[in-house]
Amino acid sequence: YAKQSGRNRFSFYFDELNTDANRLILLDSELRKAIDNHDFELYFQPKVNVRENKIIGFEALVRWNSEKLGFVSPAEFIPYAEETGLIIPISEVIIEKACEELSILRKAGYSKLPISINISSIHFQQTNFLESIQIILERNNTSAHNFEIEVTERTVMNNDADTISKLVRLKQLGFKISIDDFGTGYSSLSYLVRFPVDYLKIDKSFIQHIVNLADKQAIVDAIIQMAHRLNMQVIAEGVESIQQLNQLSRMGCDFIQGYYYSKPVPIEELIEFLQFWEYEHQGEIES
Ligand code: C2E
Ligand code: MG
Ligand code: MG
Ligand code: MG
Repeated sequence: YAKQSGRNRFSFYFDELNTDANRLILLDSELRKAIDNHDFELYFQPKVNVRENKIIGFEALVRWNSEKLGFVSPAEFIPYAEETGLIIPISEVIIEKACEELSILRKAGYSKLPISINISSIHFQQTNFLESIQIILERNNTSAHNFEIEVTERTVMNNDADTISKLVRLKQLGFKISIDDFGTGYSSLSYLVRFPVDYLKIDKSFIQHIVNLADKQAIVDAIIQMAHRLNMQVIAEGVESIQQLNQLSRMGCDFIQGYYYSKPVPIEELIEFLQFWEYEHQGEIES
């Protein structure tokens, strides 16, 4: 009996391994196909200045529907793409798409709102990172002023000369810079003084328990105070409830992003959201 269950356990383990390996093989070939066909979509999530009832911009979030795998979350395929280097061509497709969507937004009459693009550390660290972005922007007759770059705290954490010079050059080109997932990298805020950073995005793991956990409250409060002293503004990500929103407003958080206002949506729905917002708030929009 023991022997048999042992064998079952083994074959169960083996099947698991087999399925995982198969999925990776399929993920790899499907991703390469998607890169060739520019087969990714961008969804957009608004960032809101609550005090002034203003939309200040949107984050672009990649969505991928694979023919053979169905919807695959970026939380799954981005890390794989980073391991294999496929992130570079994917990132270029994403930036190209962001330019195309920007022109749709501009045609709809929203002439100023910027789009935030998430940049993987692997792409950021490429020697020709800046040139690769510039080429795409020029090809699309658009400029850096229309975009913000989101890099994670982990990406900039090593705090070396190359990181600083890239951030400085991005700023000189006209990009705004956000530090994403802030608070998860256990870095000290003080090194940020050296960086030309516009926004800190507090990671949603802090926001999730901000209403009932005093230690999360204390951390978020400290981040907001420090950021303001360093002339940065703070965006809370993952805000889902009015209680979280009120708490953050009391703490002086500048901007809110999360399901409370909208989940990420395709550009057409975003434009509807903007039109509805303007109607509700009598044109109070930074369009
Ligand atoms: P991120 O940049 O920190 O994006 C925020 C994530 O939180 C997004 O997940 C968004 O859909 C989700 N979110 C927004 N509001 C809420 C909320 O109220 N509650 C909860 N629970 N979640 C919320 P998503 O789109 O699945 O993306 C996950 C991560 O994948 C991103 O984290 C980012 O690291 C990466 N990613 C997504 N799109 C891109 C992209 O275009 N390029 C790169 N390099 N990475 C991307
Ligand atoms: Mg993202
Ligand atoms: Mg982000
Ligand atoms: Mg984040």
